[in-house]
Amino acid sequence: MTLQLTNTLTGIKENFVPLNPPYVRMYTCGPTVYDYAHIGNFRTYAAQDLLKRYLQYKGLKVAHVMNITDVDDKTIAGAHQKHLKLDDYTAPFIQAFHEDLKTLHILPPAQELRATQTIPQMVEMIQKLERTGHAYPKDGSVYFRISSFAKYGLLSKKDLEKNITGARVDQDEYEKETAMDFVLWKKAKEDEPAWDSPWGRGRPGWHTECSTMSLNAFKFQTLDIHTGGEDLIFPHHENEIAQSECATRKKFVNYWFHVKHLLVDGEKMAKSKGNFYTLRDLITKGHEPLAIRYVLISTHYRKQLNFTFDGLRMAKESINRVRNFCDALQAGANEQPSQEVKQYVERSRSQFEKALDNDLNAAEALSAVFDLIHYLNLAAKRGFHQDDRACILGFLNDVNRVFAVFSLEEESLPADVQALVEAREKARLTKDFKHSDELRKTIQTKGFTVKDTPHGPQVKKIL
Ligand code: AMP
Ligand code: ZN
Repeated sequence: MTLQLTNTLTGIKENFVPLNPPYVRMYTCGPTVYDYAHIGNFRTYAAQDLLKRYLQYKGLKVAHVMNITDVDDKTIAGAHQKHLKLDDYTAPFIQAFHEDLKTLHILPPAQELRATQTIPQMVEMIQKLERTGHAYPKDGSVYFRISSFAKYGLLSKKDLEKNITGARVDQDEYEKETAMDFVLWKKAKEDEPAWDSPWGRGRPGWHTECSTMSLNAFKFQTLDIHTGGEDLIFPHHENEIAQSECATRKKFVNYWFHVKHLLVDGEKMAKSKGNFYTLRDLITKGHEPLAIRYVLISTHYRKQLNFTFDGLRMAKESINRVRNFCDALQAGANEQPSQEVKQYVERSRSQFEKALDNDLNAAEALSAVFDLIHYLNLAAKRGFHQDDRACILGFLNDVNRVFAVFSLEEESLPADVQALVEAREKARLTKDFKHSDELRKTIQTKGFTVKDTPHGPQVKKIL
């Protein structure tokens, strides 16, 4: 089955066809590092992670790039307030973001780009836009002329025709109903970090940053997927399209994937509203990272999700249900493998895939898993043959490669990995550490990690 995704650009569910299979060029708007990311932000990153993992499950190779917005109005204001240099102010938030991604089992991007390290490329892009009449300088800043791009407004589908004011706006964030010539390069203010440019000292606008980083990362080729939260559709992504397509004369992105905002008590969770929880807040209160991840991804990414502590408790119960089932799976033994178990697992796998193929319907995919567990809990009373166990665990491990929310019993190791682990143990015992290290690397290329413990090697599948 082909994966179908809702494309914000067309507004409909479309078959996902990458331009250069098996590779998928995917770009995610990363965090603005002026504070710790809140769990609303992580709803977007976790949904993007589910998408990435499911593409990988389907055999695609995802070239994933994310940026870090480490210079913008907010980071500059934050640094100023704390009397710190911009880099010193943003560094701890960048580190915290990396740690939080890890805590939530969100796979890191293959490449992470920082705005402050991509300034020359930004200047180059702005010069190109100026040469082709899409940008104009004014008082040391440079603006994008939106009337020069006929497709402006196609992504957000706002009736911007009537609302194109021709006025210029300097801020990174501004009124979301009116299209205005937005700033590509901002003239430096006193005491602000600034870089040299043909227009004098200044710094890039936020939209410029993402366009330049994504285009450079993919060598100016069309991206397959661009992801972000729904608030980025306008003006950020609309502006990214305008600049990028005017600079390259090519389609910028084929599929736009936008995640609906996480709400708290029916309101958008936002740093500016003060109604937000960081991941750290919740962990300090004793909540489990995997339960938080479960809450964030178990509701369809385009459906409203209201964060509640009850929801978090239920997520924990769901995770425990799988845990308890895995324990039950070990008990008893049946002499014959069961055809019925195999058929049930196969049926669940196909329901699981069908649900995810349908615009990443996570809720339905998980209910296929829980229906299976419900049935197998009854069968567990009779015990399982080891082939049944392997078949069930094989499926649950695959589910977990996509969802990464369960802590499962180890699936029995594939014979070749088992042989490598044994050979590595032998090498270690004979103190042939060079060989044992080589074997560890080979085991890693097969998707497993080995940790040496006092009880012998512990092998884990890389999620
Ligand atoms: P920011 O750091 O503000 O640039 O946001 C990082 C990402 O989080 C962007 O993709 C935003 O769209 C997304 N985001 C912000 N608030 C929420 C929310 N309440 N729920 C889901 N995603 C959000
Ligand atoms: Zn962006």
